[in-house]
Amino acid sequence: MTRRQGSPTGGFSARTRAEALARFQADTFDIAIIGGGITGAGIARDAAQRGLAVALLEKGDFASGTSSKSSRMIHGGLRYLAQRHIHLVRESLVERGLLLRLAPHLVHPMPWLLPVYEGGANSRFVLRLGLTAYDVLAGRRRLRRHRSLSREALEHNEPAVRTNGLQGGFRYFDCLVNDARLTLATVRSAARDHAAVANYVEATEVLSEGGRVTGVRFTDRLSGSTGTLRAHVVVAAAGPWTDRVRALAGVPPMLRPTKGTHVVVEHARLPLSNAVAFAFRDRMMFAVPYRDYTYIGTTDTDFTGDPGQVLAEADDVEYSIEAANSAFTGDLSPDDVLSTWAGVRPLVYEEGSPSEVGRDYDVQVGPEGFITIAGGKLTTYRAMAEDLVNRIIQQEARRLGGAKPPCRTASTPLPGGDLDRFERYREAAATPLEESWDVPRQAAYHLLDTYGTEYLKVLTYARQSPELLQPLAPDVPALAAEAVYAVEEEMALTLEDFMVRRTELMLFEPEHGLEAAGRAATLMGEALGWGRGQRQEQMESYRQAVADMTAFRAAGGQRPAAPPS
Ligand SMILES: Cc1cc2nc3c(=O)[nH]c(=O)nc-3n(C[C@H](O)[C@H](O)[C@H](O)COP(=O)(O)OP(=O)(O)OC[C@H]3O[C@@H](n4cnc5c(N)ncnc54)[C@H](O)[C@@H]3O)c2cc1C
Repeated sequence: MTRRQGSPTGGFSARTRAEALARFQADTFDIAIIGGGITGAGIARDAAQRGLAVALLEKGDFASGTSSKSSRMIHGGLRYLAQRHIHLVRESLVERGLLLRLAPHLVHPMPWLLPVYEGGANSRFVLRLGLTAYDVLAGRRRLRRHRSLSREALEHNEPAVRTNGLQGGFRYFDCLVNDARLTLATVRSAARDHAAVANYVEATEVLSEGGRVTGVRFTDRLSGSTGTLRAHVVVAAAGPWTDRVRALAGVPPMLRPTKGTHVVVEHARLPLSNAVAFAFRDRMMFAVPYRDYTYIGTTDTDFTGDPGQVLAEADDVEYSIEAANSAFTGDLSPDDVLSTWAGVRPLVYEEGSPSEVGRDYDVQVGPEGFITIAGGKLTTYRAMAEDLVNRIIQQEARRLGGAKPPCRTASTPLPGGDLDRFERYREAAATPLEESWDVPRQAAYHLLDTYGTEYLKVLTYARQSPELLQPLAPDVPALAAEAVYAVEEEMALTLEDFMVRRTELMLFEPEHGLEAAGRAATLMGEALGWGRGQRQEQMESYRQAVADMTAFRAAGGQRPAAPPS
């Protein structure tokens, strides 16, 4: 088995992970964070930037929990305005403006349409007031002011919208994000500031001495080995697993988890140019055009199961299709659904209907040395982290060796985001990629959208082996170099890490990118030293993940077999 040469750029790989595991055992950390979703990643980045000694343990892959299952919006949340959560909307709009600057390759403005119908829940007048407030709350970070649209203008902009009773509507702007890559960029940024971070490491026990938490026991889920990590403060940032982690520390539950699902159809089956928000039964739903697809979401139902086993069931798919058919002129059926994703919102316990449960976060301290943070949104993760790290520094000043510098995360770009005016950068970089590197235009855009300025690092791998400049499979935008880059620079350790979270090939490629997966398994195997059997296991496990994602098609909702090789 040939092992490809290691990282030419420093790397964030299995070797980095092995070093982190050794540090977990050897060092005493200021803060140990349980959970490598966006919340834990944000805290690690902020604390590491301020010079604190940080450890982060993630039991699966980074973002494998809720943080790769969101609706992918960086938004103020018009709905929360109607619920009078003004503080949350204002904070979210400020963070939206900041994230556009910190990760302009991952966060993009998107026009939204809001059609208004006779007899609808909200009149034009109320919606206009709401959107004006939305613009005002965004302050100088506003994207573009909302506009009122006549019925004709709305029909012209979005011919697929149902016209029965249509009065007109509004256009406003919010942002879309690649949620998993935002999380990964945040974790990598923390590691650059010397945080010890590792995926596939589970905290299995919370340790204490004399009533104070002093660290955790952990298990390396790849090797099965166990160890002890000591820390002045342990933070539970475990998303929908929060109550399980709190149980390890002997503290009561605090969550009301709700499940949300999304379905993906071909763009041709629901052709939209704007994202569209619409009311269906008692809640707001949306349809978002994305690449050659449109996705529809989201359901919101109480969830009591295992957050690791959450899937879009047949009922969820039917509900989403029914909702889309109520809002658009086409006639979709569950057979049109190509991919799905489902996640569990780690909401803080409140009574009322699931859609009404607040999206703000909560911090609970106790027992001494143990802090839980839960709730919130992807959009506000940076502000949540700043608040939490401030509190820890204040409360634990003596143990942490005195004062620490203020938060800098609002002004330091995330990896790949150190550029101005993304659109201009994208065009300027795509041309030489096409002309000098022979990279097809679509693949060039994909490289820039995925890696931002770090696309140059991906190319350094292709310089070592020019065949890595080829696509992973015909018509797939991802290049072969990306599979090697994911291993060497993004700590991808399984095929699924690559196909689902480093790229989006599982959700947004015909046949879920199965052919590309085969080539990626070969390249990852060479870099990680997989034998033939391991490569086959990786493929099998990927096929099973695809089968699970489309399980709603199977009669009785049983776990279906993976498609044949
Ligand atoms: C359907 C849906 C749509 C959403 N849409 C949006 C949106 O459009 N915009 C927005 O701003 N927000 C949105 N959200 C909310 C947002 O996605 C979440 O608030 C956010 O992702 C939560 O991140 P987290 O890090 O707290 O949780 P997670 O991402 O779940 O991370 C927690 C991590 O902890 C790990 N973990 C658990 N136990 C252990 C252990 N013992 N040891 C080690 N690791 C452990 C888990 O593996 C997991 O990766 C949405 C949520 C859902 C469900």
